[in-house]
Amino acid sequence: MNNTENMQAPHVIIKNVDKVFSSGDKEVIALKEINLTIYNGEFVAILGPSGCGKSTLLNAIAGFSLPTSGRVYANGAEVTRPGPDRGMVFQEYALFPWMTVAENIAFGLEIKKLPKQIIKEKVDALLAKLQLLDFRDRFPKDLSGGMKQRVAIARVLALDPPMMLMDEPFGALDALTRRTMQDELLRIWMELKKTVIFVTHGIEESIYLADRVVVMTYRPGTIKQIVPVELSRPREVSSPRFIYLQKEITSLVMEEQMRFRNEEIRDSGGNVSARDESEQVP
Ligand code: ADP
Ligand code: MG
Repeated sequence: MNNTENMQAPHVIIKNVDKVFSSGDKEVIALKEINLTIYNGEFVAILGPSGCGKSTLLNAIAGFSLPTSGRVYANGAEVTRPGPDRGMVFQEYALFPWMTVAENIAFGLEIKKLPKQIIKEKVDALLAKLQLLDFRDRFPKDLSGGMKQRVAIARVLALDPPMMLMDEPFGALDALTRRTMQDELLRIWMELKKTVIFVTHGIEESIYLADRVVVMTYRPGTIKQIVPVELSRPREVSSPRFIYLQKEITSLVMEEQMRFRNEEIRDSGGNVSARDESEQVP
C-alpha cells in the first residue's frame, strides 16, 4: 500500500532554503537551493553520505535551526521554532535515564497536565503498540538498542504529532533488529497515516521504506534527484524492481562521490595527497 489516497495536500514546503555555517574564516554551505514539497501521509527518505546536510535539513523542518535564507512551511505556517506538530526521533534515543520506560512515554503527556487516568490509558496503548508491555518498569540502561528506539518512538507518538522526523533512527542497530524496526515503523505509519521524513545513509533502507527517496549531493548539499519507489509493501528486497532501484540509486551516489573527489583533486592542483582526509565522503 502506498497511502496515495492521502497525498493531495502538501504538509511541508521547503522553498529556496540555504544554510551556511561559519566557523572562524571557514564557511560550510550545508544546504543550497533546497526546494521540496512533502505531502500529507507521505513517507520520504532523505538519503546521502555523512556530512551532506541531511540533519541540517531535518533540523530546519523541526525548527531547531533556521535556514540562512529561504523558508520552510509546515501545514501552511512558516516554521520558526520546534512545535508539537513535528515529533523528532534521534539516533541516540534521547531517553531520560532516571525514568522507567512507562515514565519516559508519559513524560510529554504529564507536561500537558492530562488527567492521570488518560495518561495511563495512552501509555498502556503505546506499550502494547510498540510491544513494550513486559518492559514498562525497566530503565533505559537495561534495554537493548532496538527496545530503546521503540521507547523513543512511543514517546513521540504519545503526543500524536501528524509528522515524525527521524534522524538515522536505526543507524546504531544490528541488521536484524533494524529490519524488525523498519517493519514496525511501516506498520505504525500505515495505521496512523502520519507524514514521515526519514534521514538515512542506507540505500537499501531508503528503498525499503519510502514512497520517495530524496538523494542529496555533498558540499554543497543540494537535491540531486528524487526517486519515486512505486513498489507495494511489504517490499521484497530481492525483487527485480527493488534491485534495479538499488543499482540506480547507488550509481547516483557513486557519481556524486566521483564528482566530489574530482573537485577536490582539481582544487588541490592535482595533488591528491593535499586532500584533507577527514573530509572524504565516507
Ligand atoms: P549529515 O546529517 O548529512 O551527516 P549535517 O547536516 O550534520 O550532515 O552537516 C552538514 C555539513 O554542515 C557538514 O559539513 C557539517 O560539518 C556542517 N555542520 C553541521 N552543523 C554545523 C554547526 N552547528 N556548525 C558548523 N558546521 C556544521
Ligand atoms: Mg546527520
